[in-house]
Amino acid sequence: MGKVYKIGVIKGDGIGPEIIDEAINILDATASKFGFDLNYEEFLLGGSAIDATGVPLPAETISGVKRVDAVLFGAIGGPKWDNLDRHLRPESGLLGLRKEMGTFANLRPATVYDELINASTLKPNIVQGVDIMVVRELTGGIYFGEPREYSKDVAYNTMVYTREEIVRIGKVAFDIAMKRDKRVCSVEKANVLEVSQLWREVMEEIAEDYPEVELTHLYVDNAAMQLIKEPKQFDVIVTGNIFGDILSDAASMLTGSIGLLPSASTGSKVGLYEPIHGSAPDIAGQGIANPIATISSAAMMLKYAFGELEAADAIENAIKRVLADGYRTGDIGAFDAKEIVSCSEMGSIIANSISKS
Ligand code: NAD
Repeated sequence: MGKVYKIGVIKGDGIGPEIIDEAINILDATASKFGFDLNYEEFLLGGSAIDATGVPLPAETISGVKRVDAVLFGAIGGPKWDNLDRHLRPESGLLGLRKEMGTFANLRPATVYDELINASTLKPNIVQGVDIMVVRELTGGIYFGEPREYSKDVAYNTMVYTREEIVRIGKVAFDIAMKRDKRVCSVEKANVLEVSQLWREVMEEIAEDYPEVELTHLYVDNAAMQLIKEPKQFDVIVTGNIFGDILSDAASMLTGSIGLLPSASTGSKVGLYEPIHGSAPDIAGQGIANPIATISSAAMMLKYAFGELEAADAIENAIKRVLADGYRTGDIGAFDAKEIVSCSEMGSIIANSISKS
């Protein structure tokens, strides 16, 4: 028997179950081709957890994700749960899970598929060849900072980073840059925020240990503009939680659809692999979601969690072949499509392509 990997599966809400089912099909096709075994164990999170247990992050999910090798996650949230108190909402469950797992480094590649060059809202010559890795700090910053308060008359949050938190995310970014084009752009708002001033100083200190890597700094407003103006200037972007959240969504549009972009949340023993998009309640249950972001997240899991590099490449190559053959889900259907397919058809076509390759 080959190696056995244990995967925690969190389908979540909205389109979550649809896209995860396809990622599992692809993982199974890859496992039988490359001779390893996958065991899946399902856990609840978000709205579906609220409906089943009354809380968005059940204790069983917290203990369960610690006994697997990696977690594959769809998405959570939806209008049904929007009016609950903040700590009971699906999103609190996800933030809590990331914190519990200690996955402080969120890697969000934004790569433009040549086959989808016309899907971007930007001109082909601007986006062709874009290959950016956004390294977003995920368990600190303003989403977690205390104190925080809401009342009818005043509300506030706190943006806080310790030196230690900045050092560990900075090292992740520089290590990744060493395996790429050796350029790191640190993004913050040091002209206005003290927390960003510390961020910039610490990045400068880390850079001294990586003499081959070129470090540049951009204020977040300028970075947003540069991403749209000249995205090819970027190799690795390292930034805090909220800025990374916003910039990686912007970067996703360079590629044509948010339904294409994967992510890996790492930094701890067990990583979390998930598409960057949400639960898309507007299209949930219609079978039209694009599963590629989740399938590509599964490929990141094979690569980063299990070191199955050949299998990961096989998935990415199959995605490219299928796009080159003109298969498109609706979100990218207007661009060089030969056939518009459903979420499950896209999954099966990619799985077949892997098996036949
Ligand atoms: P969203 O990413 O769910 O959707 C934004 C738009 O992109 C929608 O028009 C949607 O139809 C489209 N879209 C997203 N994924 C797609 C896919 N795979 N294929 C085709 N189209 C896709 O963001 P939103 O509408 O702001 O949020 C919806 C819910 O998701 C909210 O409850 C929000 O809190 C939650 N959310 C969850 C996560 C997560 O689970 N990681 C992330 C972001 C938002």
